[in-house]
Amino acid sequence: MRKQIAAANWKMNLTVDKAEDLLNKLLAENLPASDDAQVVFAVPAPYLQLAVEKLAGKQGYSVAAQNCSNYKNGAYTGEISVEMLTSLGVKYCVIGHSERREYFGELDELLQLKLERCLDGGITPIFCCGEALEVREKEKQNDFVKGQLEKALFPFSGSQMEKIVIAYEPIWAIGTGKTATAGQAQQMHAFIRSVLAGQWGEGSAQNVSILYGGSVKAANAVELFSLPDVDGGLVGGASLMADEFAQITKALKH
Ligand code: PEP
Repeated sequence: MRKQIAAANWKMNLTVDKAEDLLNKLLAENLPASDDAQVVFAVPAPYLQLAVEKLAGKQGYSVAAQNCSNYKNGAYTGEISVEMLTSLGVKYCVIGHSERREYFGELDELLQLKLERCLDGGITPIFCCGEALEVREKEKQNDFVKGQLEKALFPFSGSQMEKIVIAYEPIWAIGTGKTATAGQAQQMHAFIRSVLAGQWGEGSAQNVSILYGGSVKAANAVELFSLPDVDGGLVGGASLMADEFAQITKALKH
Protein backbone atom coordinates (compact mmCIF):
# COMPACT_ATOMS: atom_id res chain seq x y z
CA MET A 1 0.00 0.00 0.00
CA ARG A 2 1.36 3.38 -0.94
CA LYS A 3 1.72 6.03 1.75
CA GLN A 4 -0.33 9.24 1.94
CA ILE A 5 1.97 12.21 2.59
CA ALA A 6 1.52 15.86 3.48
CA ALA A 7 4.93 17.47 2.91
CA ALA A 8 5.66 21.03 3.97
CA ASN A 9 8.20 22.82 1.80
CA TRP A 10 9.38 25.82 3.78
CA LYS A 11 11.78 26.88 1.00
CA MET A 12 14.20 29.68 2.08
CA ASN A 13 11.89 31.12 4.75
CA LEU A 14 11.87 31.64 8.54
CA THR A 15 14.57 32.40 11.09
CA VAL A 16 15.46 29.70 13.62
CA ASP A 17 13.16 31.01 16.36
CA LYS A 18 10.23 31.25 13.93
CA ALA A 19 10.97 27.75 12.64
CA GLU A 20 10.93 26.38 16.18
CA ASP A 21 7.73 28.25 16.96
CA LEU A 22 5.99 26.82 13.87
CA LEU A 23 7.05 23.27 14.75
CA ASN A 24 5.86 23.77 18.35
CA LYS A 25 2.48 25.03 17.16
CA LEU A 26 2.04 22.06 14.82
CA LEU A 27 3.10 19.56 17.47
CA ALA A 28 0.53 21.06 19.84
CA GLU A 29 -2.15 20.30 17.21
CA ASN A 30 -1.62 16.55 17.67
CA LEU A 31 -1.93 15.86 13.97
CA PRO A 32 -3.22 12.40 13.04
CA ALA A 33 0.08 11.16 11.56
CA SER A 34 0.92 7.49 11.14
CA ASP A 35 3.21 5.27 9.08
CA ASP A 36 0.56 5.22 6.33
CA ALA A 37 -0.32 8.93 6.49
CA GLN A 38 2.90 10.83 7.00
CA VAL A 39 3.62 14.45 7.78
CA VAL A 40 6.97 15.57 6.38
CA PHE A 41 8.80 18.85 6.95
CA ALA A 42 11.24 19.96 4.24
CA VAL A 43 13.04 22.61 6.26
CA PRO A 44 16.02 24.79 5.34
CA ALA A 45 19.34 22.96 5.88
CA PRO A 46 20.38 24.92 9.00
CA TYR A 47 17.20 23.75 10.78
CA LEU A 48 17.38 20.06 9.89
CA GLN A 49 18.87 19.01 13.21
CA LEU A 50 16.40 21.11 15.18
CA ALA A 51 13.50 19.58 13.27
CA VAL A 52 14.80 16.02 13.71
CA GLU A 53 15.17 16.61 17.47
CA LYS A 54 11.73 18.18 17.82
CA LEU A 55 10.00 15.37 15.91
CA ALA A 56 11.99 12.51 17.48
CA GLY A 57 9.75 9.66 18.60
CA LYS A 58 6.62 11.15 17.00
CA GLN A 59 5.09 8.44 14.84
CA GLY A 60 4.38 9.46 11.26
CA TYR A 61 6.46 12.66 11.33
CA SER A 62 9.63 12.94 9.27
CA VAL A 63 12.14 15.54 8.21
CA ALA A 64 13.18 16.21 4.61
CA ALA A 65 16.04 18.14 3.09
CA GLN A 66 15.17 20.44 0.19
CA ASN A 67 18.20 19.41 -1.85
CA CYS A 68 21.33 17.24 -1.71
CA SER A 69 24.57 16.89 -3.59
CA ASN A 70 25.00 14.60 -6.57
CA TYR A 71 28.46 13.79 -5.15
CA LYS A 72 29.11 11.27 -2.39
CA ASN A 73 31.51 13.42 -0.35
CA GLY A 74 34.77 15.33 -0.71
CA ALA A 75 35.95 18.73 -1.90
CA TYR A 76 32.61 20.23 -2.94
CA THR A 77 32.35 23.44 -0.94
CA GLY A 78 28.84 24.35 0.09
CA GLU A 79 27.31 20.99 -0.79
CA ILE A 80 25.36 18.68 1.54
CA SER A 81 25.78 14.93 1.09
CA VAL A 82 23.19 12.22 1.55
CA GLU A 83 25.49 10.68 4.17
CA MET A 84 25.32 13.92 6.18
CA LEU A 85 21.53 13.89 5.94
CA THR A 86 21.17 10.29 7.09
CA SER A 87 23.63 10.90 9.94
CA LEU A 88 21.22 13.60 11.19
CA GLY A 89 18.17 11.35 10.92
CA VAL A 90 16.68 12.98 7.82
CA LYS A 91 14.41 10.56 5.96
CA TYR A 92 13.35 12.35 2.76
CA CYS A 93 14.89 14.77 0.26
CA VAL A 94 13.11 16.93 -2.32
CA ILE A 95 14.79 16.46 -5.70
CA GLY A 96 14.23 18.57 -8.79
CA HIS A 97 11.87 21.20 -7.44
CA SER A 98 11.00 23.54 -10.31
CA GLU A 99 12.75 26.39 -8.48
CA ARG A 100 15.99 24.40 -8.50
CA ARG A 101 15.51 23.53 -12.14
CA GLU A 102 14.80 27.15 -13.06
CA TYR A 103 17.14 29.18 -10.83
CA PHE A 104 20.00 26.70 -10.41
CA GLY A 105 19.95 25.07 -13.83
CA GLU A 106 19.32 21.54 -12.55
CA LEU A 107 18.70 19.20 -15.47
CA ASP A 108 17.15 15.73 -15.43
CA GLU A 109 20.55 14.04 -15.89
CA LEU A 110 21.86 15.72 -12.70
CA LEU A 111 18.63 14.88 -10.90
CA GLN A 112 19.06 11.26 -11.86
CA LEU A 113 22.43 11.27 -10.06
CA LYS A 114 20.88 12.90 -6.99
CA LEU A 115 18.16 10.26 -6.98
CA GLU A 116 20.83 7.57 -7.17
CA ARG A 117 22.69 9.10 -4.20
CA CYS A 118 19.45 9.17 -2.17
CA LEU A 119 18.49 5.59 -3.00
CA ASP A 120 22.02 4.32 -2.27
CA GLY A 121 22.04 6.18 1.04
CA GLY A 122 18.56 5.15 2.20
CA ILE A 123 16.83 8.54 1.80
CA THR A 124 13.41 8.64 0.15
CA PRO A 125 13.52 11.15 -2.69
CA ILE A 126 10.48 13.32 -3.45
CA PHE A 127 11.00 13.81 -7.17
CA CYS A 128 9.26 16.88 -8.58
CA CYS A 129 7.97 17.15 -12.13
CA GLY A 130 5.51 19.43 -13.86
CA GLU A 131 4.99 21.67 -16.83
CA ALA A 132 5.12 25.44 -17.36
CA LEU A 133 2.08 27.42 -18.48
CA GLU A 134 3.19 27.61 -22.16
CA VAL A 135 3.38 23.81 -22.26
CA ARG A 136 -0.12 23.39 -20.85
CA GLU A 137 -1.51 26.03 -23.19
CA LYS A 138 -0.23 23.94 -26.09
CA GLU A 139 -1.74 20.84 -24.42
CA LYS A 140 1.68 19.18 -24.38
CA GLN A 141 1.76 18.55 -20.62
CA ASN A 142 1.59 14.75 -20.86
CA ASP A 143 4.52 14.52 -23.27
CA PHE A 144 6.52 17.01 -21.22
CA VAL A 145 6.04 15.24 -17.89
CA LYS A 146 6.64 11.83 -19.49
CA GLY A 147 9.96 13.19 -20.81
CA GLN A 148 10.97 14.30 -17.30
CA LEU A 149 10.10 10.88 -15.89
CA GLU A 150 11.92 9.03 -18.66
CA LYS A 151 15.15 10.99 -18.26
CA ALA A 152 15.37 10.97 -14.46
CA LEU A 153 13.59 7.78 -13.42
CA PHE A 154 13.75 5.20 -16.19
CA PRO A 155 17.35 4.16 -15.37
CA PHE A 156 16.09 2.71 -12.05
CA SER A 157 14.68 -0.76 -11.41
CA GLY A 158 11.08 -1.32 -10.33
CA SER A 159 12.09 -1.99 -6.73
CA GLN A 160 14.12 1.26 -6.68
CA MET A 161 11.23 3.15 -8.26
CA GLU A 162 8.90 2.01 -5.50
CA LYS A 163 11.16 3.87 -3.04
CA ILE A 164 10.72 7.18 -4.87
CA VAL A 165 7.85 9.57 -4.15
CA ILE A 166 6.72 11.71 -7.11
CA ALA A 167 5.36 15.23 -6.70
CA TYR A 168 3.45 16.55 -9.71
CA GLU A 169 3.73 20.32 -9.49
CA PRO A 170 2.46 22.30 -12.47
CA ILE A 171 4.72 25.36 -12.45
CA TRP A 172 1.81 27.67 -13.25
CA ALA A 173 0.22 26.66 -9.95
CA ILE A 174 3.26 27.09 -7.66
CA GLY A 175 2.99 30.14 -5.43
CA THR A 176 0.42 31.71 -7.78
CA GLY A 177 -2.78 30.95 -5.90
CA LYS A 178 -3.93 29.08 -9.05
CA THR A 179 -4.60 25.41 -8.35
CA ALA A 180 -5.05 22.66 -10.89
CA THR A 181 -8.71 21.64 -10.98
CA ALA A 182 -9.57 18.26 -9.55
CA GLY A 183 -10.03 17.02 -13.12
CA GLN A 184 -6.60 18.28 -14.23
CA ALA A 185 -4.86 16.84 -11.15
CA GLN A 186 -6.51 13.41 -11.40
CA GLN A 187 -5.87 13.21 -15.16
CA MET A 188 -2.16 13.94 -14.76
CA HIS A 189 -1.69 11.70 -11.72
CA ALA A 190 -3.39 8.80 -13.52
CA PHE A 191 -1.23 9.52 -16.56
CA ILE A 192 1.97 9.48 -14.45
CA ARG A 193 0.88 6.18 -12.90
CA SER A 194 0.26 4.77 -16.39
CA VAL A 195 3.78 5.79 -17.44
CA LEU A 196 5.18 3.99 -14.38
CA ALA A 197 3.02 0.94 -15.15
CA GLY A 198 4.28 0.91 -18.75
CA GLN A 199 7.89 0.81 -17.55
CA TRP A 200 7.73 -1.28 -14.37
CA GLY A 201 4.29 -2.95 -14.35
CA GLU A 202 1.00 -2.13 -12.65
CA GLY A 203 2.08 -3.60 -9.29
CA SER A 204 5.01 -1.20 -8.93
CA ALA A 205 2.99 1.75 -10.24
CA GLN A 206 0.33 1.17 -7.59
CA ASN A 207 2.99 1.29 -4.86
CA VAL A 208 4.31 4.75 -5.76
CA SER A 209 2.96 7.77 -3.87
CA ILE A 210 2.20 10.67 -6.22
CA LEU A 211 1.72 14.01 -4.45
CA TYR A 212 0.12 17.11 -5.93
CA GLY A 213 1.80 20.50 -5.43
CA GLY A 214 0.68 23.96 -6.48
CA SER A 215 -1.18 26.35 -4.18
CA VAL A 216 -2.57 23.61 -1.94
CA LYS A 217 -4.42 25.15 0.99
CA ALA A 218 -6.95 24.06 3.60
CA ALA A 219 -9.80 25.11 1.31
CA ASN A 220 -8.82 22.79 -1.57
CA ALA A 221 -6.89 19.97 0.16
CA VAL A 222 -9.93 17.78 0.89
CA GLU A 223 -11.03 17.74 -2.76
CA LEU A 224 -7.51 17.22 -4.14
CA PHE A 225 -6.40 14.56 -1.65
CA SER A 226 -9.60 12.56 -2.08
CA LEU A 227 -8.83 11.95 -5.79
CA PRO A 228 -7.98 8.29 -6.42
CA ASP A 229 -4.45 8.89 -7.80
CA VAL A 230 -3.52 11.81 -5.52
CA ASP A 231 -1.67 10.58 -2.45
CA GLY A 232 -1.28 13.89 -0.63
CA GLY A 233 0.55 17.11 -1.36
CA LEU A 234 3.76 19.07 -1.40
CA VAL A 235 2.82 22.38 0.15
CA GLY A 236 4.76 25.64 -0.05
CA GLY A 237 3.14 28.89 1.12
CA ALA A 238 0.37 27.32 3.21
CA SER A 239 2.88 25.19 5.13
CA LEU A 240 4.23 28.33 6.81
CA MET A 241 0.89 28.84 8.60
CA ALA A 242 0.28 26.38 11.43
CA ASP A 243 -3.53 26.39 11.20
CA GLU A 244 -3.57 25.98 7.43
CA PHE A 245 -1.02 23.19 7.39
CA ALA A 246 -2.74 21.38 10.27
CA GLN A 247 -5.99 21.37 8.25
CA ILE A 248 -4.14 20.17 5.16
CA THR A 249 -2.65 17.19 7.03
CA LYS A 250 -6.14 16.27 8.25
CA ALA A 251 -7.29 16.09 4.61
CA LEU A 252 -5.02 13.09 3.89
CA LYS A 253 -6.80 9.77 3.27
CA HIS A 254 -6.34 8.17 6.71
C1 PEP B 1 6.03 24.16 -3.65
O1 PEP B 1 6.87 24.88 -3.20
O2 PEP B 1 6.37 23.01 -3.96
C2 PEP B 1 4.68 24.65 -3.81
C3 PEP B 1 3.79 23.85 -4.35
O3 PEP B 1 4.43 25.91 -3.40
P1 PEP B 1 2.96 26.56 -3.15
O4 PEP B 1 2.19 25.59 -2.33
O5 PEP B 1 3.22 27.83 -2.45
O6 PEP B 1 2.33 26.74 -4.49
